[in-house]
Amino acid sequence: MGRTLDLVEQKKPHILDLSIGEIEGRLAEWGQPGYRAAQITRWVLRQGATSYDEMTNLPSELRELLAAEFRVDAPSVIATRMADDGSTTKVLLDLGGNGSADDAIESVRMDYDPESEGGEGRERTTVCVSTQAGCAMGCVFCATGQQGFTRNLTPSEIVAQVLHFARERRVTNVVFMGMGEPLANFDAMMRAIHWLVDESGLGMRQRGVTVSTVGLLRPIERLAEERLQIGLTISLHAPNDELRRRLVPTSGAATIDALVDAGLAYQATTGRRVTFAYALLEEVNDTTEHARELAERLRGRAVHVNLVPYNPTAGVDLRRPSNTRVRRFQQELLDGGVNATVRVERGIEIAAACGQLRTDVLGTPIAPR
Ligand code: SF4
Repeated sequence: MGRTLDLVEQKKPHILDLSIGEIEGRLAEWGQPGYRAAQITRWVLRQGATSYDEMTNLPSELRELLAAEFRVDAPSVIATRMADDGSTTKVLLDLGGNGSADDAIESVRMDYDPESEGGEGRERTTVCVSTQAGCAMGCVFCATGQQGFTRNLTPSEIVAQVLHFARERRVTNVVFMGMGEPLANFDAMMRAIHWLVDESGLGMRQRGVTVSTVGLLRPIERLAEERLQIGLTISLHAPNDELRRRLVPTSGAATIDALVDAGLAYQATTGRRVTFAYALLEEVNDTTEHARELAERLRGRAVHVNLVPYNPTAGVDLRRPSNTRVRRFQQELLDGGVNATVRVERGIEIAAACGQLRTDVLGTPIAPR
């Protein structure tokens, strides 16, 4: 009986699956003043409330009406791993409330202390969120890509990952770089972004939010049309389309030239610099010839390339290049007139690449390809 009730409860939408306007609309139908919406969302987003009983400035009849229609709970934690002296934390969250691998998603918190980084930059806490359980893009080097696609996350499930860590300390940055392709779950991603940056939400800086895509052309245009100051990272991973299609088998019409055009158009519309990510895989795409080909292709275009040495993944026969190979690749790009940096890796020992913790803890089978 308890289990049946749980399932009924689970089917209700979460209050953060609605927009602030939709919450106000529902309140109006109940004859409640609009300002109650901000009170409710403040409780959930800024006070971390996970039950209506905590919302002591709401009338009890309203709390009952809300509880009958909308969930306000937080997902439970299946596993937590820490690394980098406690400055990187990864959690596996149970979105289905049943411990099933299908509904388990990963989120990572990374704390940056300027003193430990040579006194540069500001102290910040970045949370990396997932937008899908699994992923349909099938990138050959990615643990999530090998697990196949289960489902899109709802807006509340995306925001819940930030709120989980916000209970411990203030989150300054959010990157949509976890499991799944965020632009393939566009509407839920946008709703979640609004809860992060709007004043009725967490009120974060728009510039503190970055979306990372493997390269979906039309959704990149849609994101530009939102006219927000959201950062954008587009993954290239290869200097030519033939190799790119081997590494990202679903890339279809998204050629490298088309992606660079889309990135520059986003840059022109929003004024935000777009980063082009390139995962370095030993002997696959990291040779001097690959670097020269990439530099030739990007020369004269105002792009910034971020090189990401591959994070070894169980069951995937690909290797991380040595630091010497990484530096040589970077130097070839710089010599070719292309702005290039190397990403500092975090949390390698806790399987920080997306999808690996789920595989380690729940043993999610490799999906047939
Ligand atoms: Fe999906 Fe990103 Fe993994 Fe590619 S790298 S399979 S887009 S989660």
